[in-house]
Amino acid sequence: MSRPGEFELINRYFLEVFRQQADETTGVRLGIGDDCGILAVPAGENLLVSVDTLNGGVHFPECSPPELLGRRALAVSVSDLAAMGASPLGFTLALCAPDLREDWLQDFSAGLAKAAKEFAIPLIGGDTTRGPLSLSVQVMGSAPEGRALLRSGAKPGDVIMVSGSLGDARAALDHLLDHIALPDQGHFLSRYWLPQPRLALGQALRGVATAAIDVSDGLAADLGHILKASGIGASIDISALPVSKELRDAYAPEVVSGYALAGGDDYELVFTVPPAKVGQVVALSAQLGLALTAIGHIEANPGLRCFDKDGAQVTPPAGYQHF
Ligand code: ADP
Ligand code: MG
Repeated sequence: MSRPGEFELINRYFLEVFRQQADETTGVRLGIGDDCGILAVPAGENLLVSVDTLNGGVHFPECSPPELLGRRALAVSVSDLAAMGASPLGFTLALCAPDLREDWLQDFSAGLAKAAKEFAIPLIGGDTTRGPLSLSVQVMGSAPEGRALLRSGAKPGDVIMVSGSLGDARAALDHLLDHIALPDQGHFLSRYWLPQPRLALGQALRGVATAAIDVSDGLAADLGHILKASGIGASIDISALPVSKELRDAYAPEVVSGYALAGGDDYELVFTVPPAKVGQVVALSAQLGLALTAIGHIEANPGLRCFDKDGAQVTPPAGYQHF
């Protein structure tokens, strides 16, 4: 039997696997198979677009299980839609691989399909090329005109809040990259491989939060983007940062706060809320079953100031820089 060709593999692992979901999604007018996919944007809404590239050996270990890679690649891109308060419409995938191995493609597309269903976002097209392993996922979503959450709206006096917990994904890298054995290893690995884009939270924060961002490079770095875009500063309380019991049990306290402050890859949302709306966020937390924790407040004075539990100022560590 001859090896299946490129088009046959694309048909088998993209067109066929994703056709049904695209057919069943209201906004998809045309899925994979033509020169473009076609999406309908709901009346009165704007189209939000973002692309993220994950390169083998840089953004994930080369030997990563393809099923987890597929899921994670989509989750990190969808997280950008969540951060802006958008509802998913569809995504495209540019896959670059040294060769098209059928077993790899099968597992990759299975992981991707599982995530696509979970986040209710259909695959509507893509590109497949030969080269070093790299995945680019472009997501498209929509939000009512003028209601998307930007980085630029934070005001002095706003309370800074963060969803879920921070630092677990950074701990997973200790295991994945440095082969350090961790107690509760499964917990940390699933936080790295299976990040939860906070879509419902982002959408519910429209009209409530003044600014939002997802934590990909670390809290200090990503909050720093809000501060810069909004032209303000902030003070945060390191001892208030939400961390899991697993992280607290696995590391010394100063490592825990370092990971919570500067560890990336958690894909939680950091957002700012006027004090009068904090009550709404508390109600939202109960409704979503998701911890939403106040960690500090916005100030007119530019820059990020971090304080420990005794009120002493500590130096914030630098986040991940690509260049
Ligand atoms: P074109 O040459 O017109 O760009 P291609 O031959 O690259 O089209 O792809 C054929 C069809 O398969 C297109 O509809 C394209 O969107 C889709 N496709 C190719 N690669 C992928 C992929 N990795 N994921 C999803 N769809 C893909
Ligand atoms: Mg074409």
